Amino acid sequence: MRLTKQDCIDMDQRDPLAACRDRFTLPQDEVYLDGNSLGAMPAHLPARMQQAIAGEWGTGLIRSWNDAGWIDLPQRVAAKVAALIGASADEVMVGDSTSVNLFKALSAALRLNPGRKVILTEEGNFPTDLYIAQGVAELFGAEIRYVPSDASAVADALDDSVAVLMLTHVNYRSGRVYDMAGITRQAQAAGALCIWDLAHSAGALHVELNACSADFAVGCGYKYLNGGPGAPAFVYVARRHQELVRQPLSGWHGHAQPFAFVKDYQPAPGINRMQCGTPPLLSMLALDSALDVFDGVDMAQLRTKSQDLCDLFIRLVDERLGEYGFGIGSPRERELRGSQVALTHPEGYAIVQALIARGITGDFRMPDILRFGFAPLYVRHIDVYHTVDVLAQIMASGEWNQEKFLTRKAVT
Ligand SMILES: *Cc1c(COP(=O)(O)O)cnc(C)c1O
Repeated sequence: MRLTKQDCIDMDQRDPLAACRDRFTLPQDEVYLDGNSLGAMPAHLPARMQQAIAGEWGTGLIRSWNDAGWIDLPQRVAAKVAALIGASADEVMVGDSTSVNLFKALSAALRLNPGRKVILTEEGNFPTDLYIAQGVAELFGAEIRYVPSDASAVADALDDSVAVLMLTHVNYRSGRVYDMAGITRQAQAAGALCIWDLAHSAGALHVELNACSADFAVGCGYKYLNGGPGAPAFVYVARRHQELVRQPLSGWHGHAQPFAFVKDYQPAPGINRMQCGTPPLLSMLALDSALDVFDGVDMAQLRTKSQDLCDLFIRLVDERLGEYGFGIGSPRERELRGSQVALTHPEGYAIVQALIARGITGDFRMPDILRFGFAPLYVRHIDVYHTVDVLAQIMASGEWNQEKFLTRKAVT
C-alpha cells in the first residue's frame, strides 16, 4: 500500500520531538532540507544577539571580556558541544573554522607519530579536508594516500607507514556513515592516529568519541549545530594526548598566560592550547545560544527520527518517482546512513532549482546529486511527503526544463 498524506500527518502526531520545531524560526511554508549545509535559525537568537550587540558590546565595551564572561566563552560553548559528541568538556575547544582546526589536528597528529609519513584518507572526502591535508603534507614532507570510499579499502591501506587516518564520519555527498569504533580500532592497531571530521554528524547523530577511544576530531558549527553562517567550528583532542600535543598556530589565546605578555610561546595546559587568536565573539555568542535548542533532547531519539525521515523519503521516492530516472545515491540501510539522502539525476541541478522556486530547499552537488538533509529538530514527516509530491509534479510537467533553472549560480 502506498503511503498517503494522512499517514505522514499521523507520523508527525506520534513524533516525540515534534515540539522542537517551535524552537526555530522558518519562513512561512518553507520546507527546509538544507540544514546539513546551513542550520535554521533558533527562534530566540535575534533577541539574544540584540542584547549581545547593544548591551555587551555597545554598553559594556571592553569590560565585557570580564563582566560578560567573554574570556571563557569558548570553554562554555565547548562543554555544550562535548555533550553532543560523547566527549568530556575538557577535550573540546571551539573556535576558528573546520578547515583551520583540521590543520591544527593534522599537524599535531603528524608530530605525535614521528617516523611515519603517510596521511591516509579517502578520495571522496570533502574537498577542504583534502586541500588542508595537501597543505600540511607539503609543510611536513608527508605524503597522502588516497583510497576509495569504502571501509575495507581503508583497512587494507593501513600499514606501518601510516601516521594518520583522516576520515569524514558521514560522507557529504552520499551520507554514508563509517563505523567509527571499528575503524578507529583498526587504525590504532596499525599504529596510526585517527582524525574524524564530524561536520555532518554533530547534532544529527549519536556520536560517542570517548566510547570509540577516538584520538582527534573536528566539526562544524553552522550545520546541524545551527550556530549561523560562518559559526565557529570545534576540535576534539582525547585527554591522553593533550599534554604532548603541539599545534603550529601558536597564537596568544593558546598560551599558558595570554595576559602575561611574555616573549616566548608556552602552550596552555590541556585543550586550551588548541586556541589561536581572539575568537569571533558575536558568532561565538550566537553558537552558544543556538546550542540551547538541544536542551532536553535525547540524542538516541533524535537519531531515530532522522532515520525515520530518511526512510520515509526513500520509500516515497520508490513509490512515486519510479518513472523519472532517479537513482538513490545513499545507502538504503538506515544504520549506514547519516541524516541526509542523495538522489541522482542527470538534470539534478535544474530540478533542485525548480524545487527551490516552489519553496523546497535542498542543494546540488557535482556531478549529478540532489542532496536532501533532514534535520530532525525541525523537519516534519509532512515536509517529506510534500517534497516528493512536488518532485513528481515538476517531473511530470517538465517544469524543471527552463532557462532560469538550467543556468548555474555561484553557490549550488
Ligand atoms: C562543511 C564541511 C567543512 C567546512 O569547513 P569550513 O572550514 O567550515 O568551511 C569541512 N569538512 C566537511 C567534511 C564538511 O562537510
